[in-house]
Amino acid sequence: MSALRGWCPSAWRPMRAGDGLLLRLRPPLARLTRAQALLVAELATAYGNGAIDLTRRAALQLRGLDEAGWRAAVDRLVSAGLVDPDPAIEAVALTVAPDWGEGDDTHRVARALMARRAELPPLPAKFGIAVDAGDGSVLGDTPADLRVERGADGGLILRADGRATGAPLRRGREVEAIAALADWFVTTGGAVAGRMARHPAVLPAWASGCVAPLVRESESEQVTPRYGRLTGAELASLAAGVEALRVTPWRSLLMERDAARVPPPPSSSSRLSSKEHAGFGFRRTGRGDVPATPSRPNFQGGALSRECRGSGMSPDSPEAPPLHQASAGPPPLPSKGKVHVSGAAQARSRSPLASAPPDVHVDACVGAPACPRASVVTRALADRLAAAPLAGPIHVSGCAKGCARSAPAALTIVGRGGRYDLVRDGRADSPPVRRDLTAAALLAHLGAD
Ligand code: SF4
Repeated sequence: MSALRGWCPSAWRPMRAGDGLLLRLRPPLARLTRAQALLVAELATAYGNGAIDLTRRAALQLRGLDEAGWRAAVDRLVSAGLVDPDPAIEAVALTVAPDWGEGDDTHRVARALMARRAELPPLPAKFGIAVDAGDGSVLGDTPADLRVERGADGGLILRADGRATGAPLRRGREVEAIAALADWFVTTGGAVAGRMARHPAVLPAWASGCVAPLVRESESEQVTPRYGRLTGAELASLAAGVEALRVTPWRSLLMERDAARVPPPPSSSSRLSSKEHAGFGFRRTGRGDVPATPSRPNFQGGALSRECRGSGMSPDSPEAPPLHQASAGPPPLPSKGKVHVSGAAQARSRSPLASAPPDVHVDACVGAPACPRASVVTRALADRLAAAPLAGPIHVSGCAKGCARSAPAALTIVGRGGRYDLVRDGRADSPPVRRDLTAAALLAHLGAD
């Protein structure tokens, strides 16, 4: 085993966190059959501390394992077809738009890419590929370096992250194009930058398309655990009622009630009513449409069929308010209807309200002590902020890495050296407007004490 701090973990390379080893699992096609979900639930409880986190890359993280438990869990996950026996293959981070249907473009391309992952060059640890080829692209806020998306002209495109547009793909040649662009990234020194969006090299002409992605949001029925965390027992309970579960990058689970297809979205009124899932403080949500982005396609050949031209307060601080956060295992789940926390990554500013509505959007990473990079507690503070009359979205991050949210938020609280910095209308790595606040001072400053 190679247990590393600060590494992007996988099933074969667990990360040592404050609460033990962290095993990250990316189910093939983001799908867990009922039996597989029950297995994951069992392993989380038998070998870990029972906590399961849903991540922004549509992975499940089992927490609190020891070395023997990790090995036993991985062996059973391999046997169940949830982990590739080849660690190099397993390390390829592939995110799939979770609301795919049998035989559609997302399903077709993702299956082809999974079968041919060995053709990809060795890539940096955090390098990811998104297959997002439904009626519109839903993964725009999900970390990925290469994106197969629905273009605004109706065809599929390959887009390098950080570029506004992509190049049209030829049907059946998508994997060749992905592998070619991954090869280009490696041979042009992309490993130094680590991520496509930071790689300064000019894209090759064949990959420099000018078709923008057609953007939408998933409307499938989802269950969103608070802060993306659930227990093994809760996962087992959810799995018992469905054919399969799909793991979304919005820290939610999509309920598949029919083995062949995802259920159609519920009616608008029921979608937006956010019914609670009995007993867990989960919310069922749909996601509304956003406008399509216009494009001006211009074409030519290759694997890409057409080309465009021109183209961290410490938990025991004496000044701390009565925040609490478990050192191991899941924190308490919310009481019914108390706080609206979902995985949607869009920043939607809200106006301050006189009477605090319980639906402010709040993201918070696991924080201290479970994450070794954090010097502050996060989720207990997030609960306090969510209950206050503050405009969201609100993001509480244990450090400037900002694992829980990459989009800007109206309020971002960032831990640093055991105190909190306050960022307005920015991200966790944006310049703060206030620094070195205790939790009490922060709450007082925001009028949330
Ligand atoms: S953002 Fe949170 S979870 Fe991510 S590394 Fe920092 S403290 Fe850890």
